[in-house]
Formats: sequence, C-alpha cells, structure tokens
Amino acid sequence: APSAGRTTAANGHYVNGAAPTTDASSERIQIVDDEKQFSPALTQQIQKWGLQNAGFDYDIVAVFGSQSTGKSTLLNRLFGTNFDVMDETRRQQTTKGIWMCKAKNANLLVMDVEGTDGRERGEDQDFERKSALFSLASSEVLIVNLWEHQVGLYQGANMGLLKTVFEVNLGLFGKKTPDGRNQRTLLLFVIRDHIGTTPLANLQATLSADMQKIWETLSKPPELKDKQLSDYFDLSFAALPHKILAADKFESDAKELSRRFYDKSREDYVFSPLYHKRIPADGVAFYMEGIWEQVQNNKDLDLPTQQELLAQFRCDEIASAALTEFNEQAKPQKRPIESVVDGLGKMMRAWRKGALDRYDRDASRYHQGVYKRKRADLVGVIDSTLSPLFLGQLKNLHKACLVKYKQEMIDGMRGEGYNFAEVVAAARERLEKRFLDGAKEALVEGTDWSYEEELQLLRDEARSVADQCRKDETKKMVNVIERNFKKQISEPVDLYLNKPTSDMWDKVLKVFRETLEKAEASYLGKAKSFDCTEEEITTALATLRKRAWLALRAKIDEQTADAVFLGKLRTYFEERFRYDENGVPRVWRPDDDIDGAFRKAKEQTLELIPLYWKIKPTDPSLEFSLPSETSDSLTSSEEFDFPSTLVVFSETRALDLTNRFRRDADAFYVEAKRSTVSSVAQ
Ligand code: GDP
Ligand code: MG
Repeated sequence: APSAGRTTAANGHYVNGAAPTTDASSERIQIVDDEKQFSPALTQQIQKWGLQNAGFDYDIVAVFGSQSTGKSTLLNRLFGTNFDVMDETRRQQTTKGIWMCKAKNANLLVMDVEGTDGRERGEDQDFERKSALFSLASSEVLIVNLWEHQVGLYQGANMGLLKTVFEVNLGLFGKKTPDGRNQRTLLLFVIRDHIGTTPLANLQATLSADMQKIWETLSKPPELKDKQLSDYFDLSFAALPHKILAADKFESDAKELSRRFYDKSREDYVFSPLYHKRIPADGVAFYMEGIWEQVQNNKDLDLPTQQELLAQFRCDEIASAALTEFNEQAKPQKRPIESVVDGLGKMMRAWRKGALDRYDRDASRYHQGVYKRKRADLVGVIDSTLSPLFLGQLKNLHKACLVKYKQEMIDGMRGEGYNFAEVVAAARERLEKRFLDGAKEALVEGTDWSYEEELQLLRDEARSVADQCRKDETKKMVNVIERNFKKQISEPVDLYLNKPTSDMWDKVLKVFRETLEKAEASYLGKAKSFDCTEEEITTALATLRKRAWLALRAKIDEQTADAVFLGKLRTYFEERFRYDENGVPRVWRPDDDIDGAFRKAKEQTLELIPLYWKIKPTDPSLEFSLPSETSDSLTSSEEFDFPSTLVVFSETRALDLTNRFRRDADAFYVEAKRSTVSSVAQ
C-alpha cells in the first residue's frame, strides 16, 4: 500500500513517492500540481513506463465524481495502481492535483483527480472544473463515479459541473479532429454502493435521461447547435456493491469490471478505436500539456461556482416562467393596430412589473450576480417585446392628433372674424398637449424609450399643415380684397371715362391709387395676424397690385369697347354739332355754315382718340408702374409686359375707330344737309 506520508512531503512535482520498489512501472506522477502547473516530467515518465515507442497502442482513462466517493479506491482496484486513498481513521488529506499512473500489465494511462474535501468549498471549484474538463478532453474513457443514492439528484451528483464541463468541452474541442472525426468519448457510469433493490437497468435509464436533459439545455456554439449527445458520447454502466458491507462481492465485481479494460475479446471491452485521440505515445505529454493550457486559458471556465450554476439553472427557469405569463398577456396587443390603444402604457407597465416581481420574488434568493444578470436579460426580452407596441402607439397617436388638429383648424376658420394666427396657435397647443399626454401614458419607467423624435415629426407636419392653410387663406383673402377693389373703382372710373377731359387719366389713376392703398392696408392688417413671412407678404402684395391693375384695365376695356367707345364719340360729336353752345338743338338754315360746324365738331371729337388711346396722366407723379414678368412654364406665370398695358388702343384700332366714327359723323352731316333742303322746300 502506498505511504500517504511520502506523498504530501514537499512542493513540486512528485515523480515517485510510490511503493518502495524500484519498478518504474508502478511509479506515479503528479501531472498537474496544486498551483495548476503542468509537470515538465511527464515525457520522461512515459519513457520510464516504457511507452515511448507504443505509437497508438496505448489508452487513457480518467475518473470524474464528487470527493470521497471512492474514486481512487476504484482505480487502484481496477488497474493495480497506487493512487492515494483517504484514510478513514485519520481523515488524512490527499495531495491536490491530477495524478497519473500506468495500469498494471497494460499500455493504459490512468488519471486520478484529487481535490480538497468537499466540505471546503470556494476556491477549489475552479480546480475541480478545470481538472474535470481536462479529464474529459484528454481521455478515451471517463469513469463517472457516483453513489447509488446520488442517481437522479442534479446537485448531489455533480450534474451541474458535468453540464458546464460538457458545454466548455464542446466549445473548446467540439469541432472535428483534423482527420475529420468527431472527438468521441465513452462515459462509463460506475454506481457505487449499489444495494440491488433498484435494478441497474432502472438506474441506467435515469442516468441516460439526465444526460439527455443536460445535453439539451447546453448552450452550444451556433455551428454545433444540432449536434446530439450521441454525436460525442457513448454511455455505459456498471454497479458495484458496498465495499465494506459486501466486501467479497465488491472485490469480485471490481475484478469483473476490470476485465472490461483488459480483455479485448470481450464484447463490452471499453476501448474502441473511435475514442482514441490518435496521438502517438511519445507526443502524449506535449498534447496533454496543450489541452491543460487551453483549459487554463479558457475564460468560460473562470466559471461559476456551484452556487452560481444552481442560480443559473433556477434563474433561467424562473425567468422563463415569468416570461411565459408576460407573453400570454402581451399577445393580444402584438398584432398591428391602426388606432390608439386606451391605457396601453398602464397595461404594459403592469405586465412588465408582474413579470419582474415574479422573477424577483423567486430568483432573488439565488446567487446575486447571476440573479442580476439574468434579470437584466429578462428585462431585455420584455422590453424588446414592448418597445414595438410603444412605437406603434406613438405612430397611431401621431396620426390621430394630426387628424384632430386639421379638423380644429377647419372649425376655427369657419365664418368671419376669426384670427388665423390665434386659431393655429390654439390648435397647435392642443395638439402638443394631446400628443404628450398620450405619449407619456405609453412610457414605461426603466426603459430608455423616448417620444421626442415622433414629437418633432409631428411638429414639422403640423407646421406644414399650418403653412398650407395660411397659403389657402391668403389666396382667399386676396380674392376678397380684389373683389372689393373692383366694386370700389367701378363707379368712379365709369364716371371719369364718360367725361373726357384732359386730366381724365389723372382722376382715374388717383382713384385707382387710393383704392389700391386701402386694399394693401387691409391685406397687411390681416397678414400680421397670419404670421406670414416677409416673402409671403411681398408675393401677396405683388399679386394684389397686379390684379388691381388688371381689374382697372378690364374696366377701361369695358369703357373703350368698340360700340361703347363709338357711342361716346357720337354723343360727343352730337353735342357739338347738333346742339348750340346753350344746349339748344340746331335747326339748320341754308345760309348756315354747316360745313364749318361739321368740321369743327368732327375735329374736336377726333381729338378724343389720342386722349383715350394711352393711359397717360398730365401729372407725372400719378404715373403707375408694375414690374414686367416674362412667362415661365415652371411657375406657370404668363407673360406680363406692363408698358403694353398702358396702351388702350393699337394704332390700327385707332384708325379703324376713326374711320367708323367718320362714317357716323358723315351720316349726321348728310342728315343736316337734308334738313335744310326740306326747310327750303316748305
Ligand atoms: P476519492 O476521494 O473519491 O478518491 O475516494 P477514496 O478512494 O479516497 O475513498 C474515500 C473513502 O471512501 C475511503 O475511506 C474509502 O475506504 C471509502 N470507500 C472507498 N470505496 C468505497 C465504497 O465502494 N463504498 C464505501 N461505502 N466506501 C468506500
Ligand atoms: Mg481520490
């Protein structure tokens, strides 16, 4: 039996400390020490064991299980090794580390892991995890050692640790080997202190199911997410009776189990070429050191303590239950909705609070770090469900508020005497209030949601609606002013144009100017309340002036239409030819100077044509002018040449009118002549 005393001697790596024999084959080596250093002496030890030329003809087995479950005892029984066994009577502490022996009579490397006693928790979790991962990653067969009464107990049977180890193992070593094979390992479950009342087959079923469950809940790298437990592991099972209470059977069953490692002809021989790492024996030390390095450097392994593992498991469960309920509540609101949902914020806050309260109630008892991290995850999932509802609500709120705003503008501008700017300002204020009330209601505390962007969009849209309204209003207003203007100038212009005098145009332009000034003043008065821009005012005034001028021109055209104008000429002529200075109708006598009178009246009348044919005041200060505009297909403005609008008659028209007037006048002359003839005849 090994001497426990010699194994706990000094620091450093043990190469010996074994049985007092010179036989190198029974030497053991601490390949990883309690400082987590890998031994540089392994290569040499493998040589000493005589394995350096074994090529692939060797195997590796390791053991996994809670402290003091008889692992070392088992290994020594199976392989004739001399791993330290805790001395029951002295509760002797074994030396921490990963140990390796060569099995008796076989090219078989056996690894044993020694931790501190399970009662000393804390720091050792790290070593426990790393050594477990190392054992799994480097061996062909991993003996999972557990008491019968641990079967089915997640915590008690180190299943949490196994899960973590599987997870990290998959991440680190899960990819195919360079020669395209999966890393494959046999998990040999050895059930200790098997009483026999529960048949091995039942225990086996429970353990298989547990493994399956663990595998399904592993977080796997994305490219390996469809991999099955069976893609990486084979499971095998054995049971041993109580070592003390059934000592004989224990020994014989152990011997029988041992044969599975030695007898290649057995059907249940454990070493299959599938499990072999295909590393030649002389490279094993280097290979293992590499694995240890990866294990050491792996951040995933700076891992959760047992407590954290439990917390992860439970917090996940609790969070998922809380989430299920939450989703159930939120579901009816998740379909797209076109209208504002009353009290959506209140509902969302209630669902969210409900889920978090429930999580807090059940999960806050667990490891605080894990509890908080999982809570943040939960909050993230909840908020990413609620956030679209919030945004949808804002959109619908925006739409509804804008519709109402437009309606309020229309209502406010019904009838006369409203103040446009006031109507807009009031509608705008109500719009913002309505939106903010709705948006604030939909907010959920604790989120980083914001309605500012939507509010800005709404404001911009409200402004453009108001701008459009103002443009329409301005158009309407300018039309009204134009109509009034026409009414106001109609009578005086008629009057002046019917009484040709040399200052006729002075009078016309004067009344035009005065009326236009009034119209402009009335526009400016309103424009102020409209909140119009300078540019809009300038444009509107220009429009107003042009329309006023065109209205005047229309009036002038009306008064100078051929028939009307010829009528004017005729009347003017008649007044001078057929009536004397006192307005008494003339009776022509043969000795009267009809020709002289006729010529005079005609000449006086013809002088009217140059008076009318151009708008030209005697007082130059009364002259009116407008900027001309070239036609522009883009703004669809027509050509407007102001100087040409001053011309009332074209030259040809003047000539035509002159001729037509002459004919009229000639008729009067003939009539006058005839009247003398008839008077002579009497
Ligand atoms: P290890 O820490 O898992 O390596 O366990 P050891 O092999 O050091 O054994 C721990 C203690 O359990 C020792 O006192 C052993 O005598 C005792 N032991 C070993 N095998 C068995 C077994 O099969 N059944 C019981 N009940 N005790 C055992
Ligand atoms: Mg041990």
